[in-house]
Amino acid sequence: MSLEEYREIVHLCRLCGNCRQCGTTYLPCCPAGERFALDEYYSRGKSIIAKGLLEGRLIWTYSIANAVYRCTMCGACTEQCPVDYKDYILKVFGALREESVERSLVPPEVRNFFENIQNFGNPFKEPRKERGRWTDGTQIRQYEPGDEFLYYVGCIGSYDTRANKIAKALGDIFLRSGLSFGILGSEETCDGNEVNMLGEKGLFELLAKENIKKFEKLGANKIVTLSPHAYNTIKNEYPHYGGKFEVKHYVQFLKEIIWIGKINISKALHARVTYHDPCFLGRYNEEYDAPREILRSIEGIELVEMERNRENSFCCGGGGANFYTDLFGSTEDSPARIRIREAYSTGASILAVACPACMTMLEDALKVEGFEKELKIMDISEIVERVSQQKEVA
Ligand code: SF4
Ligand code: SF4
Repeated sequence: MSLEEYREIVHLCRLCGNCRQCGTTYLPCCPAGERFALDEYYSRGKSIIAKGLLEGRLIWTYSIANAVYRCTMCGACTEQCPVDYKDYILKVFGALREESVERSLVPPEVRNFFENIQNFGNPFKEPRKERGRWTDGTQIRQYEPGDEFLYYVGCIGSYDTRANKIAKALGDIFLRSGLSFGILGSEETCDGNEVNMLGEKGLFELLAKENIKKFEKLGANKIVTLSPHAYNTIKNEYPHYGGKFEVKHYVQFLKEIIWIGKINISKALHARVTYHDPCFLGRYNEEYDAPREILRSIEGIELVEMERNRENSFCCGGGGANFYTDLFGSTEDSPARIRIREAYSTGASILAVACPACMTMLEDALKVEGFEKELKIMDISEIVERVSQQKEVA
């Protein structure tokens, strides 16, 4: 929708400023506001910008587009907003971005991101044929019609070397379960969640339709994703283009297959663990319990919460494609470094994540903060792989 269509709605913002703080913790909730320390980067400031543009008191400039794009679309502000405006905040941000794209006012990093997706089907400028390279030496194979589910890996899991390990750990668990599954490999392309978040609706539509066609042609009705970003877009956006699939994020699927005994958790892990909620699994899709239930089901794990958790979780800074565009940098007040200090303060020895983007953002921050000896970051798939064993065949 265009910004014009929100003309009446933006006036619902009372400019109260509640969107700066995180519930009753009174800690900051907005990674953009904390990083850039000016009102225009908080939700309140962006509402003022939207009103100003609609009323003709402001005109579009690069500096307005820069403020609009320095936001991780994490949704933390929507949780704090006390008025009817809360359901529209991210939609208004999306409309501001769409208009930035239409006016060719996007920051160069964002423009490069679009070009890479368009030309390579991934943001890393990697060849499409290399997309399944991470499976070399494993028994993970191409999806075949009739398989029980399609394992959708996504761009980060396919190309990033650290995320490759997570993709393999999850594939290994699936192999142990005995269920039939496959990946798309070189046939997989970007799911488009970040393209959509950045307001390039035309490109997003192309990606969504291409993926839907591919899934339907293969009869892949059941999809399990590695990334919460892919999960979000296949679940919530593809139905607008006619794509209706039974899609689960892998923690939801793992919880189920552990419960029915397809995965046998037989070993203990004696560790204090804290869990970081990914925005696209938590706030966008209200899945807070499955990862915690998996962790609690493992003998020896003491699960401790960071002060900001569940709907009040603090974004790692990778959302809204910042993982690729790096508009927030890695200064001391970058979201990932703030979050690492918060995780460290719990006394946990493991920070558990359930998203390859969070993993990479937080692991980089961990190194810069110098907590590598005390704190280790593990994806939940890596934890489950470690404590589970091959199911015995009867
Ligand atoms: S977005 Fe919501 S919380 Fe923020 S200033 Fe407006 S009304 Fe207040
Ligand atoms: S979506 Fe996140 S980064 Fe953007 S204004 Fe809201 S809290 Fe800040």
